[in-house]
Amino acid sequence: MPLGGAKGVIIADPSQKCEALFEAYGECVESLGGRYFTAEDVNTTTQDMDWTMHKTKQVVGKATVSGDPSPFTAIGTFDGIRAAAKMLNGTDDLHGVKIGLQGLGHVGFDLAKQLIAADADLTVSTHSNRKNMEAMLALGAKELTDEQLYKAELDILSPCALGATLNEKTIPELRCRAVAGAANNQLLNDECGVMLKKRGIFYAPDFIINGGGVINAGQEAFTVYDKENVLKQVHNIFNTVYNILDESKTTGEPEGVIAQRFAENRIKNGL
Ligand code: NAD
Repeated sequence: MPLGGAKGVIIADPSQKCEALFEAYGECVESLGGRYFTAEDVNTTTQDMDWTMHKTKQVVGKATVSGDPSPFTAIGTFDGIRAAAKMLNGTDDLHGVKIGLQGLGHVGFDLAKQLIAADADLTVSTHSNRKNMEAMLALGAKELTDEQLYKAELDILSPCALGATLNEKTIPELRCRAVAGAANNQLLNDECGVMLKKRGIFYAPDFIINGGGVINAGQEAFTVYDKENVLKQVHNIFNTVYNILDESKTTGEPEGVIAQRFAENRIKNGL
């Protein structure tokens, strides 16, 4: 996307969300003079974006245009998981591949359904969302706690909850062969990328594998929204993730460093 990167964060209790809060947020976004677009993410919905739009036009992922970005994030993450499987097993077929998915929210639940449909051997953990967990168990997924999931013998761990779950405590415990999930800022810091590499665990960089939602919403900002075109770009996440894992395998560089360079080169070359 011809976009930089930024995140809007509202420090508040999500159970107290209201129109006035998102109108105030809209004023804040508007004060940036067109340099920032906002969209849905953790704990926000298309309704919240509608309230934000009372005060600013700088909103994408609008219910009337591209909608909730989460299904596109889930599609791109699924493709990134297939790329990781291909790196591990020589095939992107997920049949019987042991995948542990953390978080059954907007992205995680959609992704879990795709993994079940692809016949993956799926284990899930969640902090809330019992309804989604029951649905997953009925479809054949297994349940573990977060702690158990880190230590489980998996092919791929897919963090789809909150950030910094891969840190000095959890990385030494991991028994997976690759990490490929949608959560933002999965690594506590850059050193964690080096730790994963030293442990021989592949890592699909978060801002590459979870780009589906922003590819979808970003189209709304710059061109006439075209879902087919969006899906074509989102599916290309498979190639991007695979190429980064492959380069890391050859050079021994952490995947996050390669991804950062890839992004910087694209910006330098005018995308
Ligand atoms: P969400 O709020 O709908 O879901 C997050 C879920 O994770 C919730 O169900 C919560 O109960 C669960 N959770 C929190 N901590 C947990 C833990 N330690 N273990 C297990 N479950 C836990 O959010 P979302 O939109 O699904 O986003 C999930 C992640 O993906 C976030 O990190 C988000 O920033 C990232 N992401 C989302 C999008 C998108 O399109 N929604 C795009 C890019 C990145």
